[in-house]
Amino acid sequence: MRDFFTKLYQNTFEDFVLLLEENIKKNIKTFVVTANPETFMIAEKETEFANLILDEKTTVVPDGIGIVKTAQMLHYSVSERISGIDLAYELLRIGNENKKSIYLLGASEEVKEKMVEKIKNEYPNLHLKGAVNGFGSNKDKEFNKIKKLKPDIILVALGIPAQEKLIYKHLDDFEKGIFIGVGGSFDVISGNKKRAPKMFQKLGIEWLYRLLKEPKRIKRFYHNNVKFVFKIRKIKKVR
Ligand code: UDP
Repeated sequence: MRDFFTKLYQNTFEDFVLLLEENIKKNIKTFVVTANPETFMIAEKETEFANLILDEKTTVVPDGIGIVKTAQMLHYSVSERISGIDLAYELLRIGNENKKSIYLLGASEEVKEKMVEKIKNEYPNLHLKGAVNGFGSNKDKEFNKIKKLKPDIILVALGIPAQEKLIYKHLDDFEKGIFIGVGGSFDVISGNKKRAPKMFQKLGIEWLYRLLKEPKRIKRFYHNNVKFVFKIRKIKKVR
């Protein structure tokens, strides 16, 4: 578990956005994993996923408040939350301002279509090279298509860990691109779901809002977040 914390990006959200902009401009391939307690819990259980997290090709940013607070408690230098959804919005902005291209993979057909409309209307200089929903049976085939199109930004919204595994499997075949798994972000950006009110975001309890809105998440929350707390308590005792 400790190894995963050493991978966390240490600077601010603003610094990271500047880094992404620089990488897009210079065609530097970048794979971003936005980490929640769930991310590290999966990596604890699955060697393949742990390797993906620890790979030097992977940049891990602290998405959830649970990761930020725990990292600080364990004396790792971490500044603040860098959430997948905020990064998705920034990438749309950067892509638009720099007339770059994008490919969207994930979410339902309805949400995907709304994303396409949104990009057309609000990010007119962003070249949408393609968009496909996340429920097709052959995502590897889809990725082979993306390879040929060489987009600058690739947003994958399939949920963790499927989105990260898919990106990682194909990453070496790309020469450039900012790759990021953005979970349920398309649902919110498209307007299909509401994001937690600003107050929840500020207090670091966005997760609570999602639990209240979608109680079916409770099991997933218990298995990842609650168990994560116990795991960290053990680590802290050993120190
Ligand atoms: N999804 C998908 N294909 C699948 C399963 C899920 O495209 O086979 C999408 C789903 O529609 C949603 C996203 O993946 O938009 C996962 O969202 P979730 O809220 O579970 O992710 P989180 O933000 O919690 O990581």
